[in-house]
Amino acid sequence: MTGGDDSAKASETPESFLPGADHACFLCRAAASQADPAVADRANLVIARDERVITLLNRYPYANGHLLVAPRRHVGGLHELSSGEHLAAMHLLGYLTQKMSKLLKAEGFNIGLNLGRVAGAGVPGHLHWHLVPRWQGDNNFMPTVAGTHVISQSLEALWEGLRQGTTCEGDHGP
Ligand SMILES: [Zn+2]
Repeated sequence: MTGGDDSAKASETPESFLPGADHACFLCRAAASQADPAVADRANLVIARDERVITLLNRYPYANGHLLVAPRRHVGGLHELSSGEHLAAMHLLGYLTQKMSKLLKAEGFNIGLNLGRVAGAGVPGHLHWHLVPRWQGDNNFMPTVAGTHVISQSLEALWEGLRQGTTCEGDHGP
């Protein structure tokens, strides 16, 4: 009884997933409790989290400032969300439109939900809203900034900017 259990513990991931989480799902990984939240949130591009929802930058954005808002639970249907989760997500989307209007001078937004793979959901098992800021004439702008390096640089800067002052009520819960 000596040694075996200890070595098993040592190889465990430092994250503690929510019940029902899919360990391969990037939204579940972002929503998991982290040993070092500051480091993990930067790596996962998480801007805000509370006990119900998380917000993160899309790693493969359609546009600068493309955010994802998701319930922390791994659920794929709108009908599976609690009233509290619906409310938290809608409040957060509203807050983020204001924040990005100020920070990025966004002039409009597209907010959308892809339900099911046939509708374009990349991760159909874990519901998430896309929040895409828009600017006058941005259709012409996008093709000129296709460099991966440029986009990854701006993701980091954007994470810093959006993270500032964006805290959810009930943050740092167990
Ligand atoms: Zn998930």
